[in-house]
Amino acid sequence: MTILVLGAGAVGIATAWYLKKHGHDVTVIERQPEAALETSWGNGGVIHASEVEPWSQPGMPMKIVKWLGKENAPLLLRYGSIPHMWRWGLDFARNCTPERFAFNARANLELALYSLRSLQEIAAETQIAYDRATNGVMKIYRSKEALDGAERSCVALARHGLLYERVDVARALDLEPALKDTSPTLAGGLFFKRDEVGDCNKFTQGLAAQCAKLGVRFHYSTEIQRIETAGDKITGVITSVGRIAADQAVVALASYTTPLLKPLGIRIPIYPVKGLSITFARGNWGSAPRMPVIDDSRLFGLVPIGDRMRISGSAEITGFDTQPAMPRAEAVIANASYTFPELPRHLDLATARIWAGLRPVSPAGTPIIGATSLKGLWVNAGHGHLGWTLACGSGRALADIISGKRPEITLPPPQGAVAA
Ligand SMILES: Cc1cc2nc3c(=O)[nH]c(=O)nc-3n(C[C@H](O)[C@H](O)[C@H](O)COP(=O)(O)OP(=O)(O)OC[C@H]3O[C@@H](n4cnc5c(N)ncnc54)[C@H](O)[C@@H]3O)c2cc1C
Repeated sequence: MTILVLGAGAVGIATAWYLKKHGHDVTVIERQPEAALETSWGNGGVIHASEVEPWSQPGMPMKIVKWLGKENAPLLLRYGSIPHMWRWGLDFARNCTPERFAFNARANLELALYSLRSLQEIAAETQIAYDRATNGVMKIYRSKEALDGAERSCVALARHGLLYERVDVARALDLEPALKDTSPTLAGGLFFKRDEVGDCNKFTQGLAAQCAKLGVRFHYSTEIQRIETAGDKITGVITSVGRIAADQAVVALASYTTPLLKPLGIRIPIYPVKGLSITFARGNWGSAPRMPVIDDSRLFGLVPIGDRMRISGSAEITGFDTQPAMPRAEAVIANASYTFPELPRHLDLATARIWAGLRPVSPAGTPIIGATSLKGLWVNAGHGHLGWTLACGSGRALADIISGKRPEITLPPPQGAVAA
């Protein structure tokens, strides 16, 4: 049976890998000339097996309303986007109760832990070089209330397998000496020793090459225009270079899943939330952080990835625009420079790459994985701020389902027109 995988991001390639391992005939279709050139290119690089809380959380709707139109808001909703996303917004608000938030965080945690194991197994089997680092992740807080609140969420998740350590300022400095300049303003931190770092683009491209070795076919530079159907089943995909016949397809197009499936009457509630990253050579910054530091009050992450440093942050709801907005990039850099005053001396904007990507966010903050009402059409999308973390487990679980096998974990519950 030929299965098309639509989209060669981290999620699509992981799905193709596991489908091939099940013995299927697999073809990947991707509009870019290589794998992982869109959202899977410049993300924060953190395998956040411990940072699984959805953005749909208690208090968030009021915060978004308060931040409306404010250029420096942590999550900026542009007025022009509101008419296109009101239904998604209502679903998002419904998921912000304490009960839904706790449930969705638990679902993400189970998938994240499974995904981390799956990533480690693939890395061991294939020896893909992707700048993996296993020093853990430090999240820092500047007020005791914020730290207490974050710890409460960790306590609840610890019953389900989360590993964390609450650290005082001295212990935080011990683990990450680069915090020395900002330590007088800190209340403490949370250290997640199991979380890892890796270059999502390098891993995904490496895995695509391994898939090709196993016989997966790739059609790059091929725009998917629509899904072809007959009655209640899929018969193929119409692309910029012609029709490709198939009786099965997995849509792994992140935020673009929604517009592709809308004409078929299949509602997939995913909305793009633009984020930014700034990648630069570590050069001679010898005292740079050795582990990712996520700053809760300044809302950025500074992540060492191989011989580079990457600052990531910003969340802007502004449709499908992927141009990095300079004022927001400057705000992210200013926040990172507050915490790491040595940073401006080592960040050369002339050679840094300023990048924007669209996080594919679902209202529940959990990915949408499973079957649609159209026979043979599956979805694996909507991984939001956690797609690198969740990619391998999502691909593995969906490949099991398509192959008639029970997945090893319970997947997040259905959203929109998809049932697991
Ligand atoms: C600033 C930022 C920081 C982040 N940090 C982290 C992090 O630290 N850890 C983490 O786990 N996650 C992080 N994420 C989230 C993560 O990057 C995404 O969730 C993940 O990359 C989504 O993978 P994907 O395969 O679903 O999407 P993509 O990588 O976008 O793949 C979808 C593919 O579909 C292709 N495509 C789309 N439409 C078509 C079409 N019509 N025809 C053909 N091809 C098409 C695209 O070219 C693309 O290659 C971050 C995201 C951002 C923006």
